[in-house]
Amino acid sequence: MATRTAQNTPRPRYRDGDFVPTREVPFSAELDEMIAEIRAGNAPNIGRFCGYCCAPLGDSEYCGVCDETTDRTPSVDKIDRDLAQIYQAKRKREGLYVHLAAWTGILLATGLSILMILLLPGWTKAFAIIFLVLGGYFAGVFFGNVLIQGIAYRAGLNMFAKRWAQWRASGGAARSGS
Ligand SMILES: [Zn+2]
Repeated sequence: MATRTAQNTPRPRYRDGDFVPTREVPFSAELDEMIAEIRAGNAPNIGRFCGYCCAPLGDSEYCGVCDETTDRTPSVDKIDRDLAQIYQAKRKREGLYVHLAAWTGILLATGLSILMILLLPGWTKAFAIIFLVLGGYFAGVFFGNVLIQGIAYRAGLNMFAKRWAQWRASGGAARSGS
């Protein structure tokens, strides 16, 4: 049933438009950066991570992302492979949204300048070319960066929330005591 699925999928929490990590959706921006670095081959997959959500702990005994302590759930020294894939998939999803939006903007500007070429009389058609160059650029930037950023951000986090819950349910972070 659709309602049951909706209930089981945790919702990301936001404060003033910014995502706030919770125990249900413990997305760590720091871990996200780290996974990207490891993938790029710039860093080894080793460190000290939260046993519950894998966020980097540093020297701390307390995880600021999910509120776990190392007393309850011992830290781990590696990022779980499946979890790293979820972080990676989130980045891809966001990138896809941004690309699609940027291309929509460019196509829209192109369509408008073609209309201008058809409709404008004589030499004023030159404006269509100017519009194509400038409009295409600004539309691409506007759609790709400004307009879609919030949508991509939320879409990425929604996907993360869903897949994280699945990962957790399938025995990811199985070391957790509770
Ligand atoms: Zn944690």
